[in-house]
Amino acid sequence: MDPIYIDHNATAPLLPEVIEAMAACDRAGYANPASQHAPGRRARQVLEDAREGIAELLGAKPGNPADQLIFTSGGTEANNLALTGLLPRAPAGRGVSLVVSAIEHPSVSETADHWEQQGVRVDRLGVDRQGVVRLDELECLLTAAAGKNPVGLVSVMLANNETGVIQPVREIATLVHAHAALVHTDAVQMVGKLPVRFRELGVDALTFSAHKFHGPRGIGGLLLRAGVPLKPLMFGGFQQAGLRPGTESVTLAVGMHAALKAWAAEADQRAERLTAIRDRFEQRLREAGLNIEIHGTPSARLPHTSNISFLGFNRQSLMMAFDLAGIACSTGSACASGASDPSPCLVAMGVGEAAWDSALRFSWGALSRMAEADAAADRIFNVCKNLEKMSPARKFPGIPRS
Ligand code: PLP
Repeated sequence: MDPIYIDHNATAPLLPEVIEAMAACDRAGYANPASQHAPGRRARQVLEDAREGIAELLGAKPGNPADQLIFTSGGTEANNLALTGLLPRAPAGRGVSLVVSAIEHPSVSETADHWEQQGVRVDRLGVDRQGVVRLDELECLLTAAAGKNPVGLVSVMLANNETGVIQPVREIATLVHAHAALVHTDAVQMVGKLPVRFRELGVDALTFSAHKFHGPRGIGGLLLRAGVPLKPLMFGGFQQAGLRPGTESVTLAVGMHAALKAWAAEADQRAERLTAIRDRFEQRLREAGLNIEIHGTPSARLPHTSNISFLGFNRQSLMMAFDLAGIACSTGSACASGASDPSPCLVAMGVGEAAWDSALRFSWGALSRMAEADAAADRIFNVCKNLEKMSPARKFPGIPRS
Protein backbone atom coordinates (compact mmCIF):
# COMPACT_ATOMS: atom_id res chain seq x y z
CA MET A 1 0.00 0.00 0.00
CA ASP A 2 1.45 3.39 -0.99
CA PRO A 3 2.07 5.54 2.03
CA ILE A 4 0.23 8.85 2.10
CA TYR A 5 2.28 11.54 3.80
CA ILE A 6 0.02 14.11 5.49
CA ASP A 7 2.47 15.52 8.00
CA HIS A 8 4.09 18.44 6.18
CA ASN A 9 3.82 20.69 9.24
CA ALA A 10 6.40 18.38 10.84
CA THR A 11 8.65 18.51 7.80
CA ALA A 12 8.29 18.58 4.04
CA PRO A 13 10.29 16.75 1.34
CA LEU A 14 12.93 18.61 -0.66
CA LEU A 15 11.68 19.72 -4.08
CA PRO A 16 13.78 18.52 -7.06
CA GLU A 17 14.82 22.12 -7.86
CA VAL A 18 16.03 22.56 -4.27
CA ILE A 19 18.15 19.40 -4.48
CA GLU A 20 19.57 20.58 -7.78
CA ALA A 21 20.36 24.10 -6.48
CA MET A 22 22.19 22.65 -3.47
CA ALA A 23 24.10 20.11 -5.57
CA ALA A 24 25.14 22.85 -8.03
CA CYS A 25 26.27 24.99 -5.11
CA ASP A 26 28.38 22.15 -3.71
CA ARG A 27 29.83 21.36 -7.12
CA ALA A 28 30.82 25.01 -7.59
CA GLY A 29 32.87 25.24 -4.41
CA TYR A 30 33.22 24.47 -0.76
CA ALA A 31 35.17 27.38 0.69
CA ASN A 32 34.37 28.97 4.03
CA PRO A 33 32.48 32.19 3.27
CA ALA A 34 34.61 33.92 5.90
CA SER A 35 37.87 33.09 4.13
CA GLN A 36 39.66 35.99 2.48
CA HIS A 37 40.94 34.13 -0.60
CA ALA A 38 39.11 34.12 -3.94
CA PRO A 39 37.12 30.88 -3.35
CA GLY A 40 36.08 32.25 0.06
CA ARG A 41 35.01 35.56 -1.45
CA ARG A 42 32.97 33.67 -4.07
CA ALA A 43 31.27 31.62 -1.34
CA ARG A 44 30.52 34.85 0.56
CA GLN A 45 28.94 36.32 -2.57
CA VAL A 46 26.69 33.26 -3.06
CA LEU A 47 25.70 33.37 0.63
CA GLU A 48 24.89 37.07 0.55
CA ASP A 49 22.92 36.70 -2.71
CA ALA A 50 20.79 34.02 -1.01
CA ARG A 51 20.35 36.21 2.06
CA GLU A 52 19.30 39.19 -0.05
CA GLY A 53 16.96 37.11 -2.22
CA ILE A 54 15.18 35.58 0.78
CA ALA A 55 14.85 38.95 2.53
CA GLU A 56 13.33 40.42 -0.62
CA LEU A 57 10.84 37.57 -1.05
CA LEU A 58 9.76 38.11 2.57
CA GLY A 59 9.23 41.83 2.14
CA ALA A 60 12.12 43.08 4.26
CA LYS A 61 13.45 46.59 3.73
CA PRO A 62 16.64 46.76 1.66
CA GLY A 63 19.07 49.70 1.53
CA ASN A 64 20.85 51.48 4.29
CA PRO A 65 19.99 50.73 6.99
CA ALA A 66 18.51 47.46 5.74
CA ASP A 67 16.55 44.94 7.78
CA GLN A 68 18.81 42.06 8.81
CA LEU A 69 18.32 38.42 7.97
CA ILE A 70 20.16 36.25 10.49
CA PHE A 71 20.56 32.63 9.41
CA THR A 72 19.96 30.11 12.20
CA SER A 73 19.75 26.32 12.42
CA GLY A 74 15.95 26.50 12.12
CA GLY A 75 12.80 27.82 13.73
CA THR A 76 13.60 26.68 17.26
CA GLU A 77 16.87 28.56 17.38
CA ALA A 78 15.39 31.68 15.75
CA ASN A 79 12.57 31.73 18.34
CA ASN A 80 15.04 31.30 21.19
CA LEU A 81 17.19 34.08 19.75
CA ALA A 82 14.22 36.42 19.43
CA LEU A 83 12.78 35.84 22.87
CA THR A 84 16.11 35.93 24.62
CA GLY A 85 17.82 38.58 22.52
CA LEU A 86 14.94 41.04 22.29
CA LEU A 87 13.78 40.94 25.88
CA PRO A 88 15.49 43.82 27.60
CA ARG A 89 15.93 43.27 31.31
CA ALA A 90 16.83 45.65 34.08
CA PRO A 91 19.91 44.47 36.01
CA ALA A 92 18.27 44.70 39.43
CA GLY A 93 15.62 42.02 38.79
CA ARG A 94 12.77 44.45 38.20
CA GLY A 95 12.16 44.88 34.54
CA VAL A 96 9.91 44.62 31.61
CA SER A 97 7.59 41.70 31.11
CA LEU A 98 6.98 39.29 28.27
CA VAL A 99 3.66 38.36 26.64
CA VAL A 100 3.28 35.20 24.57
CA SER A 101 0.11 33.63 23.28
CA ALA A 102 -1.18 30.42 24.85
CA ILE A 103 -0.90 28.57 21.53
CA GLU A 104 2.78 29.08 20.73
CA HIS A 105 5.12 26.32 19.59
CA PRO A 106 7.24 24.92 22.46
CA SER A 107 10.29 26.80 21.16
CA VAL A 108 8.47 29.99 22.19
CA SER A 109 6.37 28.80 25.13
CA GLU A 110 9.21 26.94 26.84
CA THR A 111 11.66 29.80 26.29
CA ALA A 112 9.05 31.97 28.01
CA ASP A 113 8.84 29.39 30.84
CA HIS A 114 12.62 29.61 31.17
CA TRP A 115 12.51 33.38 31.55
CA GLU A 116 9.65 33.11 34.01
CA GLN A 117 11.79 30.80 36.16
CA GLN A 118 14.49 33.49 36.01
CA GLY A 119 12.06 36.01 37.51
CA VAL A 120 10.73 37.68 34.38
CA ARG A 121 7.00 38.32 34.47
CA VAL A 122 5.31 36.35 31.68
CA ASP A 123 1.66 36.69 30.66
CA ARG A 124 -0.04 34.24 28.35
CA LEU A 125 -2.55 35.60 25.94
CA GLY A 126 -5.73 33.55 25.54
CA VAL A 127 -7.50 32.57 22.34
CA ASP A 128 -11.17 32.26 21.47
CA ARG A 129 -13.03 29.04 20.58
CA GLN A 130 -11.97 29.47 16.95
CA GLY A 131 -8.30 29.62 17.91
CA VAL A 132 -7.70 33.35 17.38
CA VAL A 133 -5.77 35.34 20.01
CA ARG A 134 -7.83 37.82 22.00
CA LEU A 135 -6.89 41.38 21.10
CA ASP A 136 -9.02 42.75 23.96
CA GLU A 137 -6.99 40.69 26.43
CA LEU A 138 -3.75 41.97 24.91
CA GLU A 139 -4.91 45.56 25.29
CA CYS A 140 -5.73 44.93 28.98
CA LEU A 141 -2.32 43.32 29.56
CA LEU A 142 -0.48 46.18 27.88
CA THR A 143 -2.37 48.77 29.91
CA ALA A 144 -2.33 46.94 33.25
CA ALA A 145 1.39 46.16 33.03
CA ALA A 146 2.33 49.74 32.18
CA GLY A 147 3.19 50.68 35.79
CA LYS A 148 5.24 48.03 37.54
CA ASN A 149 6.46 45.68 34.82
CA PRO A 150 5.79 47.35 31.46
CA VAL A 151 5.55 44.88 28.59
CA GLY A 152 8.85 44.78 26.72
CA LEU A 153 8.15 42.07 24.16
CA VAL A 154 5.08 40.38 22.71
CA SER A 155 5.41 37.16 20.70
CA VAL A 156 2.41 35.84 18.78
CA MET A 157 2.70 33.32 15.97
CA LEU A 158 1.46 34.16 12.48
CA ALA A 159 -0.29 30.84 11.91
CA ASN A 160 -0.75 27.99 14.34
CA ASN A 161 1.08 24.74 13.65
CA GLU A 162 -1.74 22.52 14.95
CA THR A 163 -4.91 24.16 13.64
CA GLY A 164 -3.50 26.38 10.89
CA VAL A 165 -5.47 29.32 12.29
CA ILE A 166 -4.04 32.65 11.11
CA GLN A 167 -3.49 35.28 13.79
CA PRO A 168 -4.12 39.05 13.56
CA VAL A 169 -0.43 39.90 13.83
CA ARG A 170 -0.63 43.21 11.97
CA GLU A 171 -3.24 44.52 14.45
CA ILE A 172 -1.15 43.14 17.30
CA ALA A 173 1.94 45.00 16.05
CA THR A 174 0.04 48.29 15.90
CA LEU A 175 -1.33 47.82 19.40
CA VAL A 176 1.99 46.78 20.90
CA HIS A 177 3.95 49.58 19.27
CA ALA A 178 1.47 52.09 20.70
CA HIS A 179 2.75 50.87 24.08
CA ALA A 180 6.40 51.16 23.00
CA ALA A 181 7.08 47.43 23.19
CA LEU A 182 8.62 45.10 20.59
CA VAL A 183 6.76 42.43 18.60
CA HIS A 184 8.06 39.10 17.38
CA THR A 185 6.11 36.63 15.27
CA ASP A 186 6.83 32.97 14.64
CA ALA A 187 5.96 32.65 10.95
CA VAL A 188 7.36 29.12 10.56
CA GLN A 189 4.10 27.61 9.30
CA MET A 190 3.09 30.56 7.12
CA VAL A 191 6.25 31.34 5.15
CA GLY A 192 6.23 29.42 1.88
CA LYS A 193 2.49 28.73 2.20
CA LEU A 194 0.89 32.19 2.02
CA PRO A 195 2.48 35.59 1.28
CA VAL A 196 4.36 37.08 4.23
CA ARG A 197 5.51 40.71 3.94
CA PHE A 198 7.72 41.56 6.89
CA ARG A 199 7.48 45.36 6.70
CA GLU A 200 3.76 45.36 5.99
CA LEU A 201 3.14 43.16 9.02
CA GLY A 202 4.85 45.81 11.12
CA VAL A 203 6.65 43.38 13.45
CA ASP A 204 10.20 43.85 14.73
CA ALA A 205 11.32 40.26 14.23
CA LEU A 206 10.03 37.24 12.33
CA THR A 207 11.04 33.56 12.49
CA PHE A 208 10.95 31.10 9.61
CA SER A 209 12.36 27.65 8.83
CA ALA A 210 13.29 26.12 5.46
CA HIS A 211 12.21 22.52 6.01
CA LYS A 212 8.58 23.54 6.48
CA PHE A 213 8.39 24.79 2.88
CA HIS A 214 10.31 22.04 1.06
CA GLY A 215 13.76 23.46 1.78
CA PRO A 216 16.55 21.70 3.65
CA ARG A 217 16.46 20.76 7.33
CA GLY A 218 19.03 22.59 9.43
CA ILE A 219 18.47 26.19 8.36
CA GLY A 220 16.01 28.93 9.17
CA GLY A 221 16.20 32.59 9.90
CA LEU A 222 15.25 35.56 11.98
CA LEU A 223 14.33 38.73 10.15
CA LEU A 224 15.14 41.76 12.26
CA ARG A 225 13.90 45.27 11.61
CA ALA A 226 16.72 47.76 10.97
CA GLY A 227 17.84 49.44 14.18
CA VAL A 228 16.22 46.96 16.59
CA PRO A 229 18.82 45.93 19.19
CA LEU A 230 19.34 42.18 19.61
CA LYS A 231 21.62 40.35 22.02
CA PRO A 232 23.27 37.15 20.75
CA LEU A 233 22.64 33.72 22.24
CA MET A 234 26.11 32.48 21.33
CA PHE A 235 29.60 33.92 21.36
CA GLY A 236 32.87 33.21 19.65
CA GLY A 237 32.74 34.49 16.09
CA PHE A 238 32.20 37.63 14.06
CA GLN A 239 29.83 36.04 11.50
CA GLN A 240 26.46 37.70 11.01
CA ALA A 241 27.64 40.76 12.92
CA GLY A 242 28.30 38.59 15.97
CA LEU A 243 24.53 38.09 16.40
CA ARG A 244 24.75 34.45 15.38
CA PRO A 245 28.39 33.47 15.23
CA GLY A 246 29.57 30.29 13.53
CA THR A 247 30.41 29.28 9.97
CA GLU A 248 27.38 29.71 7.75
CA SER A 249 26.26 26.91 5.43
CA VAL A 250 26.22 28.36 1.93
CA THR A 251 24.56 25.21 0.56
CA LEU A 252 21.69 25.29 3.04
CA ALA A 253 21.14 29.01 2.45
CA VAL A 254 21.02 28.39 -1.31
CA GLY A 255 18.56 25.52 -0.74
CA MET A 256 16.32 27.68 1.42
CA HIS A 257 16.35 30.42 -1.22
CA ALA A 258 15.53 27.88 -3.96
CA ALA A 259 12.57 26.53 -1.95
CA LEU A 260 11.20 30.02 -1.38
CA LYS A 261 11.62 30.91 -5.06
CA ALA A 262 9.82 27.70 -6.03
CA TRP A 263 6.92 28.70 -3.79
CA ALA A 264 6.88 32.30 -5.07
CA ALA A 265 6.79 31.12 -8.70
CA GLU A 266 3.45 29.37 -8.11
CA ALA A 267 2.23 30.84 -4.81
CA ASP A 268 -1.42 31.36 -5.80
CA GLN A 269 -1.78 28.08 -7.67
CA ARG A 270 -0.12 26.12 -4.86
CA ALA A 271 -2.41 27.67 -2.25
CA GLU A 272 -5.47 26.94 -4.41
CA ARG A 273 -4.37 23.35 -4.99
CA LEU A 274 -3.74 22.76 -1.29
CA THR A 275 -7.02 24.36 -0.26
CA ALA A 276 -8.85 22.11 -2.72
CA ILE A 277 -7.11 18.99 -1.38
CA ARG A 278 -7.74 19.94 2.26
CA ASP A 279 -11.39 20.81 1.62
CA ARG A 280 -11.97 17.60 -0.33
CA PHE A 281 -10.39 15.54 2.45
CA GLU A 282 -12.53 17.21 5.12
CA GLN A 283 -15.65 16.89 3.00
CA ARG A 284 -15.04 13.18 2.33
CA LEU A 285 -14.62 12.52 6.06
CA ARG A 286 -17.84 14.39 6.83
CA GLU A 287 -19.73 12.57 4.09
CA ALA A 288 -18.48 9.20 5.38
CA GLY A 289 -20.60 9.87 8.45
CA LEU A 290 -17.69 9.88 10.90
CA ASN A 291 -18.35 11.82 14.06
CA ILE A 292 -15.66 14.43 13.55
CA GLU A 293 -14.99 17.96 14.71
CA ILE A 294 -12.69 20.21 12.69
CA HIS A 295 -10.91 22.73 14.89
CA GLY A 296 -10.28 26.35 14.02
CA THR A 297 -13.23 26.74 11.67
CA PRO A 298 -14.59 29.14 10.57
CA SER A 299 -11.43 31.21 11.18
CA ALA A 300 -9.03 31.94 8.33
CA ARG A 301 -6.71 28.93 8.18
CA LEU A 302 -3.57 27.89 6.32
CA PRO A 303 -4.57 26.19 3.07
CA HIS A 304 -3.05 22.83 3.91
CA THR A 305 -3.79 22.09 7.59
CA SER A 306 -6.70 20.29 9.27
CA ASN A 307 -6.97 19.46 12.95
CA ILE A 308 -9.69 16.87 13.33
CA SER A 309 -11.18 15.10 16.35
CA PHE A 310 -12.55 11.61 15.77
CA LEU A 311 -14.91 11.55 18.71
CA GLY A 312 -14.98 8.29 20.60
CA PHE A 313 -11.42 7.31 19.71
CA ASN A 314 -8.06 7.87 21.35
CA ARG A 315 -5.61 9.79 19.21
CA GLN A 316 -2.58 7.62 20.00
CA SER A 317 -4.32 4.35 19.06
CA LEU A 318 -5.83 6.01 16.04
CA MET A 319 -2.53 7.41 14.85
CA MET A 320 -0.87 4.00 15.13
CA ALA A 321 -3.74 2.34 13.29
CA PHE A 322 -3.56 5.01 10.57
CA ASP A 323 0.18 4.45 10.37
CA LEU A 324 -0.38 0.74 9.75
CA ALA A 325 -2.85 1.71 7.04
CA GLY A 326 -0.16 3.83 5.36
CA ILE A 327 -1.22 7.26 6.56
CA ALA A 328 1.41 9.48 8.15
CA CYS A 329 -0.23 12.17 10.25
CA SER A 330 0.47 13.49 13.73
CA THR A 331 -0.98 14.02 17.17
CA GLY A 332 0.15 17.66 17.18
CA SER A 333 3.47 19.43 17.38
CA ALA A 334 6.38 17.05 16.74
CA CYS A 335 8.19 19.02 19.47
CA ALA A 336 5.52 18.64 22.18
CA SER A 337 6.97 17.34 25.42
CA GLY A 338 4.84 14.22 25.77
CA ALA A 339 2.73 12.49 23.18
CA SER A 340 0.00 11.79 25.72
CA ASP A 341 -0.25 15.36 27.04
CA PRO A 342 -3.28 17.25 25.81
CA SER A 343 -2.47 19.83 23.17
CA PRO A 344 -2.06 23.18 24.97
CA CYS A 345 -3.41 24.81 21.84
CA LEU A 346 -6.70 22.87 21.83
CA VAL A 347 -7.04 23.26 25.59
CA ALA A 348 -6.53 27.04 25.27
CA MET A 349 -9.30 27.06 22.67
CA GLY A 350 -11.66 25.51 25.20
CA VAL A 351 -11.88 22.17 23.39
CA GLY A 352 -13.29 19.48 25.71
CA GLU A 353 -11.46 16.28 26.70
CA ALA A 354 -13.32 13.96 24.32
CA ALA A 355 -12.29 16.22 21.46
CA TRP A 356 -8.65 16.90 22.40
CA ASP A 357 -8.14 13.23 23.26
CA SER A 358 -9.15 12.23 19.74
CA ALA A 359 -7.58 15.04 17.71
CA LEU A 360 -5.09 14.47 14.91
CA ARG A 361 -3.34 16.89 12.59
CA PHE A 362 -3.23 16.41 8.84
CA SER A 363 -1.02 18.70 6.76
CA TRP A 364 -0.62 18.51 2.98
CA GLY A 365 2.31 19.69 0.86
CA ALA A 366 3.31 20.93 -2.58
CA LEU A 367 3.67 17.38 -3.90
CA SER A 368 0.36 16.09 -2.50
CA ARG A 369 -2.26 14.99 -5.00
CA MET A 370 -6.05 15.22 -4.96
CA ALA A 371 -6.30 11.43 -5.35
CA GLU A 372 -4.51 11.13 -1.99
CA ALA A 373 -7.30 13.09 -0.29
CA ASP A 374 -9.83 10.49 -1.44
CA ALA A 375 -7.58 7.52 -0.67
CA ALA A 376 -6.74 8.88 2.80
CA ALA A 377 -10.41 9.48 3.63
CA ASP A 378 -11.27 5.90 2.52
CA ARG A 379 -8.47 4.40 4.59
CA ILE A 380 -9.46 6.46 7.64
CA PHE A 381 -13.06 5.32 7.37
CA ASN A 382 -12.01 1.67 7.09
CA VAL A 383 -9.64 1.95 10.06
CA CYS A 384 -12.34 3.52 12.22
CA LYS A 385 -14.83 0.81 11.23
CA ASN A 386 -12.33 -1.96 12.00
CA LEU A 387 -11.43 -0.46 15.35
CA GLU A 388 -15.06 -0.33 16.22
CA LYS A 389 -15.53 -3.99 15.32
CA MET A 390 -12.49 -4.98 17.40
CA SER A 391 -13.82 -3.18 20.49
CA PRO A 392 -17.55 -3.83 20.49
CA ALA A 393 -17.78 -2.94 24.17
CA ARG A 394 -16.69 0.57 23.41
CA LYS A 395 -19.04 2.98 21.78
CA PHE A 396 -17.83 4.92 18.79
CA PRO A 397 -20.58 7.39 18.09
CA GLY A 398 -20.90 8.41 14.55
CA ILE A 399 -19.53 5.32 12.80
CA PRO A 400 -22.44 4.08 10.72
CA ARG A 401 -23.05 0.39 11.38
CA SER A 402 -22.90 -1.74 8.28
N1 PLP B 1 7.55 27.21 15.21
C1 PLP B 1 6.53 26.52 14.71
C2 PLP B 1 5.19 27.17 14.60
C3 PLP B 1 6.71 25.20 14.29
O1 PLP B 1 5.67 24.51 13.80
C4 PLP B 1 7.99 24.62 14.39
C5 PLP B 1 8.22 23.21 14.00
O2 PLP B 1 7.32 22.40 14.05
C6 PLP B 1 9.03 25.39 14.91
C7 PLP B 1 8.77 26.68 15.31
C8 PLP B 1 10.41 24.83 15.05
O3 PLP B 1 11.07 24.83 13.80
P1 PLP B 1 12.35 23.91 13.55
O4 PLP B 1 11.85 22.52 13.41
O5 PLP B 1 12.93 24.47 12.28
O6 PLP B 1 13.26 24.09 14.71
